[in-house]
Amino acid sequence: MENKNLDDYKINEISQLFYDNVGAIVLIDPAVDAYKTIVRRGMFERLLLPDGIYHDLILDLWFHFEGSSEKVSGDYQIFADNTGTFKSKYSRRLKIALEGEEKAHLVQLTVYPIEDATKYIFILDEFDDDESLQESLTAKKINTIQGSYLFSMYIDLVADTTSSINVTEISDDVVNYNLKYSEWRLMIVNMIWPEDQEEFLRRTDPEFLKKNFTPGRTSSYDCMMRNLEGKFIWVKLIFSRAETYNEDDYRYVFMVQDNNETSMEMISTLQQYEEKATRDPLTGVFNHGEIESQLNNAITGIPQSSEPVSIIMFDLDHFKEINDNYGHSDGDTTLKCFAGILRETAAENKVLAGRWGGEEFVVVCRGMNGDQGYALAEEIRQKIETYEFPNIMHITCSAGVTEIKPDDDFQKAFDRMDKALYESKEGGRNKSTLL
Ligand code: GH3
Ligand code: MG
Ligand code: MG
Repeated sequence: MENKNLDDYKINEISQLFYDNVGAIVLIDPAVDAYKTIVRRGMFERLLLPDGIYHDLILDLWFHFEGSSEKVSGDYQIFADNTGTFKSKYSRRLKIALEGEEKAHLVQLTVYPIEDATKYIFILDEFDDDESLQESLTAKKINTIQGSYLFSMYIDLVADTTSSINVTEISDDVVNYNLKYSEWRLMIVNMIWPEDQEEFLRRTDPEFLKKNFTPGRTSSYDCMMRNLEGKFIWVKLIFSRAETYNEDDYRYVFMVQDNNETSMEMISTLQQYEEKATRDPLTGVFNHGEIESQLNNAITGIPQSSEPVSIIMFDLDHFKEINDNYGHSDGDTTLKCFAGILRETAAENKVLAGRWGGEEFVVVCRGMNGDQGYALAEEIRQKIETYEFPNIMHITCSAGVTEIKPDDDFQKAFDRMDKALYESKEGGRNKSTLL
């Protein structure tokens, strides 16, 4: 191999060397949305077609999230549907994941606008050094705060424009879209959980933003939004108005923060509290407040309802004697066992059972008429009659049943059920009565 001096290299030799070594050269004509690959080798043989659609190429290069090799697919393109234009030279490192490969490729992209920026040359080169990939990934990690933001953009309400900030690997600069803010919000609303859409539109309304944000003010709210896989996740939508001394200047930063894990934890804690708030701590069936409100709903709903509702009240027979003879603790155990049988049978019959107080229990049977309610009361009464309770062995209960009538109010229906129970007691106990 000849050993030339640097001065001996001719311009076309240098061009040839460049041509032989570069990863890929692509010519682009954005006006007709086309690209032509001049050179491609290595990974670029898989990434680039000989001739292709410019928009597709941009999506391939563009939609990789910060710190992730995952491609942004489907609906997230709505965030950056327009690709912006390159008016001057532009260079950027990207991380590109090819289909079926686990490890991402670190690529340098340089854009040269040519022909008065009506066409571009893209020069693409892969870094083959693991260390440089590592280094770049570390740099990304420093940006962790940004990592939790799915998306951010500038909004100018006066000009009605949007521009993205740091959507992608390719660009943490501001990229101007041709998308008007007024159009953008009507597109994005489709990614919001249906029940949250109205609130999204209210809060993103330009007039709302103008009225409710003094300069420098930041405000946020949570809603559900479709994620990369099309699943709905909890996000925080943040609006922040720019500090400005000009009253007519309405510029905002809008950010979408992934909030799913925290929200899910919070929701599960709330559900636990809610569950606790509706349950009787001793027996685990609904507590008085909850069964009373179920009873109320059933009674007040009856005129509009096409299905019958019957209600049952149980009272343990001679329960005071259990306490007196065996002690309060055995009394409690008996109440738990009774409630267990009641809950099981209620669940099998898809009806609701709760503790009214002491040794009295109420069952709300939607979809059951008086006869069916009576049959259920009898089924439970007979189960109790034959059940062997710890220590005390046997105990019985009495039941009062009634079907709700269209002209019933709470008191009327309740009194009839109570009277039916009283008749069971008077009639010798261990009985059900339908009134
Ligand atoms: P009847 O057949 O007429 O219903 O007689 P009874 O003894 O069951 O009726 P009464 O209303 O006189 O007594 C109810 C008893 O229930 C009195 C009370 O000590 C007991 N009780 C109420 N709540 C609890 C509880 O949470 N635990 C225990 N162990 N006993 C309770
Ligand atoms: Mg009682
Ligand atoms: Mg009793």
